[in-house]
Amino acid sequence: MEKDLKKILLDEKTIQKKIEKLGKQISQDYKDKTPILVCILRGAVVFLSDLMRTISVPVKIDFMSISSYGNSTQSSGVVKIRKDIDVDIVNQDVIIVEDIVDTGLTLDYIFKYLQKHNPASLKICTLLDKPEAHKIDLKLDYVGYEIENEFVVGYGLDFAEKYRNLPYVGILKKEIYT
Ligand code: 5GP
Repeated sequence: MEKDLKKILLDEKTIQKKIEKLGKQISQDYKDKTPILVCILRGAVVFLSDLMRTISVPVKIDFMSISSYGNSTQSSGVVKIRKDIDVDIVNQDVIIVEDIVDTGLTLDYIFKYLQKHNPASLKICTLLDKPEAHKIDLKLDYVGYEIENEFVVGYGLDFAEKYRNLPYVGILKKEIYT
């Protein structure tokens, strides 16, 4: 799989260090609370599993699965919920855990959808963010890394369901997806 990469952007150690920082911050911000981490399937699974183990307050977890229309490397913002949350989030503190924000359209949809359930608070935690690609003004509360506008894979992120199990984040060669 590594031969398909232009370069490794974030290695394992670098990612873990950053996640520890995020976990510490979340633990401080949610002192005496039990936030519900809502993981967006499938890309954020690896991030969730590492992040939750760096958080020292009790947490609950749940999952949402979204399908996005459009081609495989560009979000259309037209999304459909394939799997909804199972836990009741009314009056609960909720943190959406996402792998990457590109245009921001997917998260904007999810945020507005969850907001309708009247949680006590709703925040966003993303491992990666591509600020240049945003098409919408979105408040990201916890961000691991801001990256350039390139297509990345690994650490849960896929291209056509491949590369998710790479332990690091790499930039995929253009010829693989064009
Ligand atoms: P957005 O709606 O913000 O444009 O797109 C968000 C979703 O598109 C992410 O959850 C992810 O599934 C996918 N995505 C956006 N950029 C990338 C990328 O660089 N690599 C991969 N593998 N997926 C991406």
